[in-house]
Amino acid sequence: MPTLSVVVPIYNEEEVLPSFAERLRPVLDGLGETYEVVAVDDGSRDATPLVLAGMQRSWPELRVIRLSRNCGHQGALTAGLHRAHGAYVASIDADLQDPPETLAEMLRLAQSEQLDIVYGVRTDRTTDTPFKRWTAGAYYNLMRRVVGRNVPSQAGDFRLLSRATVDVLRQLPENRPVYRLLVPWTGLPSGEVTYVREKRAAGESKYPLSKMIRLAVDSITGFTAAPLRLATWLGLLGMAACALLAVFAFVAYLNGSVVPGWSSLIVITVFLGALQLLCLGLLGEYVARIYVSAQGRPNYFVGYDSAEDAERDESHG
Ligand code: UDP
Ligand code: MG
Repeated sequence: MPTLSVVVPIYNEEEVLPSFAERLRPVLDGLGETYEVVAVDDGSRDATPLVLAGMQRSWPELRVIRLSRNCGHQGALTAGLHRAHGAYVASIDADLQDPPETLAEMLRLAQSEQLDIVYGVRTDRTTDTPFKRWTAGAYYNLMRRVVGRNVPSQAGDFRLLSRATVDVLRQLPENRPVYRLLVPWTGLPSGEVTYVREKRAAGESKYPLSKMIRLAVDSITGFTAAPLRLATWLGLLGMAACALLAVFAFVAYLNGSVVPGWSSLIVITVFLGALQLLCLGLLGEYVARIYVSAQGRPNYFVGYDSAEDAERDESHG
């Protein structure tokens, strides 16, 4: 088991891979620890497989996993996390936006402070487009509200995890995991290393708007059933409006100021509409339960148990 596994999701990165390897390798060789690089080729259609095969010839620590088709960034990360052997598992983009030198810092921090998670937090994103920065800001604000305050606001998928954290994540039977949210959700001891987001070294972004929207939808539906409950609230609101309307219609009827039949018609229409929304909301509640049990996330993780401490002391003594 190597000390460090570095998972690299790669999609059509033939242009940037050579310079990426050139910068990554000296950092890893200089760690003085055993390591493996798990390059996950996410169904690239350019020369990426050839470039990787060429690099493998002179770099025994490089392992290549090829997905049969493009499964997306999070899919590639899943494959890497599931197959990495290291005591620590880091993930880094191949486009040199995440500086490989920071990996050494992350590993040192995790080892010295016994942390399970070390986030790479971006201090400067001026190299990203204003649109990317604005959408990212809105995304992190929303997700901090939905998942919790311990979601770091500028941490993407550049991070280092302990074996224990990886094992927790591997147990989740989820179909569409969003790791930048699932990792803080575990609540394990974490630290941060800041870095400056560099410009993409070569090639173009593999994250078109469609993939960004997909990630946002997965993030919301993966962490809250609130949209399903919307109908319940609208139904209750409708019921309240209906009660007010009934009073108004009754008064109008007594005054004789409306066409005969209007009062009963309007009250019945609004009432039925509200009732339907309420029933939809009720259905939503049950669908929400199915959805939560389908995710199969554990209800709790034990961070510390004094009995385990005692056991360890005995076995050491
Ligand atoms: N990537 C991937 N599969 C995809 C899209 C992207 O494996 O479907 C990889 C990509 O090669 C890169 C990382 O995920 O190593 C981040 O992608 P990118 O740099 O294009 O995203 P951006 O920095 O523009 O958000
Ligand atoms: Mg990038």
